Amino acid sequence: MKKVYTIGRYFRKKFGEDVYKVPLSIQGFTCPNIDGTVAKGGCTFCLNESFSPNLAKPSKKFYLNPQSGSNPLLEKQLEQVRIQYAATSRRLASKYGVKKFIAYFQSFTNTYAPLDTLKALYEEALRQPGCIGLSIGTRSDSVTEEILDYLKELSKEKEIWVEYGIQSIYDETLEAINRGHDSANVKEWIQKTRERGLKVCGHVIFGLPNESEAMMLDTVKASIGWGIDSIKIHPLYVVKNTALAVDYLKGKFEPIDEKTYIKLLVESIKLLPPSISVQRVTAGIEDDSLLAPKWCRNKHMQMKHIREALKRAGYIY
Ligand code: SF4
Repeated sequence: MKKVYTIGRYFRKKFGEDVYKVPLSIQGFTCPNIDGTVAKGGCTFCLNESFSPNLAKPSKKFYLNPQSGSNPLLEKQLEQVRIQYAATSRRLASKYGVKKFIAYFQSFTNTYAPLDTLKALYEEALRQPGCIGLSIGTRSDSVTEEILDYLKELSKEKEIWVEYGIQSIYDETLEAINRGHDSANVKEWIQKTRERGLKVCGHVIFGLPNESEAMMLDTVKASIGWGIDSIKIHPLYVVKNTALAVDYLKGKFEPIDEKTYIKLLVESIKLLPPSISVQRVTAGIEDDSLLAPKWCRNKHMQMKHIREALKRAGYIY
């Protein structure tokens, strides 16, 4: 039996102990695909205020973009970093005895702000107890040479990851999900990130509109070729109040079934060279916002089926 090289195993190998990611969600961040810079409405599966009446109210609030002249939220954002980091790291420390953490800037596009703001937030995170690095979720059209050069400096002493949404290498698919950038842009910025010695995690979705199984595996193969260090794979599921939900309800979108998803996931894991770690093998949502597919509701069952399928293929997850 081979062990899947999970990110947990990567961290244990590199640091000699467990390292857990601490997700942070900082107010004031948005996305160029939501604020109208590259598109409006966001990716078709993204729940944002364009489609959700419940999120519509805060639209008058201040949102950052790289040209923001000032940031009236900065003190509040720094406080959110401290509070969220402390709450999650303490809980993880008491539950699992973990002492080292990576601050994970997770929600929206976490490089889509002036560099001064980014520096203040990232460095505040790195000052927190036990924080050994950063993982920054972003889009390839929202990083700059300047940001990457700054992260390169940080990476001399800290573990710095940049997490890009690849989703698909097919431009027709990226267009169908209103991604707002093409595949060449993702390839270009992954390479620029890798050239600086930064770690790259690529995010891939199976079950995107009109994609064949071969297309999904092509995305995994191309991502490997682009030099990613780690991969996250998950099925596309439909959340209420999104553009995808409208298509689904009109019968224009059929979600991937669990059997096909797991088969492709196992094939993807077989394709990975030993150096590429795996950060995620599925995703789901356990509340009523999930419209379809139903199998994405129960994460525990998904993981059970994935572990069983991997075991049949000779892998321990
Ligand atoms: S890039 Fe992320 S935050 Fe922006 S619209 Fe797409 S899913 Fe939403």
